[in-house]
Amino acid sequence: MRLCIENKNRNIFLTLLLFLTAYAACSGGRFRDLDYEEVKHRWAENLEKNRAKYPDNFPWKHPEKRVFYQSDFVVYMFSDQFAQGDAVYLEIVPGEKIEDYKIFFNKREILLTETAWGYKGLFGIEPNHPAGKAELEIAYEDFMQARRQSLPFDVKKKKFPVSKTLLKLGKYSDLSELRKPEVKKFIKECLQKKKEAFSKSEENLLTSNFSHPLKNHVVTSEFWARRIKYKYDKARKKRKKQKNSTHKGLDLAGANGTPIFAVADGKVALSEKMYFEGYYTLIDHGNKIYSGYMHQNKTYVEKDDTIEAGDKIGEVGSSGAVTGPHLHVFVMIQGVMVDPMSLLVLPYRE
Ligand SMILES: [Zn+2]
Repeated sequence: MRLCIENKNRNIFLTLLLFLTAYAACSGGRFRDLDYEEVKHRWAENLEKNRAKYPDNFPWKHPEKRVFYQSDFVVYMFSDQFAQGDAVYLEIVPGEKIEDYKIFFNKREILLTETAWGYKGLFGIEPNHPAGKAELEIAYEDFMQARRQSLPFDVKKKKFPVSKTLLKLGKYSDLSELRKPEVKKFIKECLQKKKEAFSKSEENLLTSNFSHPLKNHVVTSEFWARRIKYKYDKARKKRKKQKNSTHKGLDLAGANGTPIFAVADGKVALSEKMYFEGYYTLIDHGNKIYSGYMHQNKTYVEKDDTIEAGDKIGEVGSSGAVTGPHLHVFVMIQGVMVDPMSLLVLPYRE
């Protein structure tokens, strides 16, 4: 075939040909029906529209993002910093005929929720996950064929504070008190109730709503702070090291009676007085995601109540083993404790 093209037109023709070749090479049917611009637009819009409710002094910032363009799907991940102890939100936008997604982090399956556009889920980076290389493993079926791919990303190191504290928890650090039969019995009952509350979880109850648990953001003890506890030996006038403990939640300052808000939508799994936790509320957000609120003065909710993010669920207090009034809040995602505040920057969408 003879092509009769003027020089100027030929350049246009070549550019177009090059573009089409390149387009065919990189798309080549790879992405099938995926409309990437549409997807990007939707989550960007969502990020702005569905910002969590949080106090003015909360240091909100855009989450970091990782995108994996695979031949059969795209995975988006969002996290505060992809650091140890951070929650991660992920979306899988599949091509057609791709089914039965299963996704794993650290051999742990991430529970996914199917949506109109694909799948979404949350997972936690264990606070003691080594910094550096990490990967998600994704298993799926494509045209009846089982496939597996790994998606590598980096986990950032987080400096968790270490503090030395003198144990001053009154009767809670008094062994003779803890040995009393009625106390032992109550502690055992509490353990049983907590075990039951964590043993079942609803299907996903999360929507795009998230909320800070208080009106004011003042951290008094960081998430995963290690505490070396001391007891004062009066006879020897010396501090005696007792044990190391890890703070599996976040302590936020608040005066007695300050309202506490649910951090996300869910169903109350437990709300009553416990020995160490004081007035304790546990909310099930579905897919084995829980948030817990301890040492309350009062709780406003009961087991099985349906809760929306930002609902007033109780009041700050100093019940249980504490040195003063504050809120201890924790978030656990499929068995992994994460910094509750890392949830508030995620662009979770419907
Ligand atoms: Zn605490």
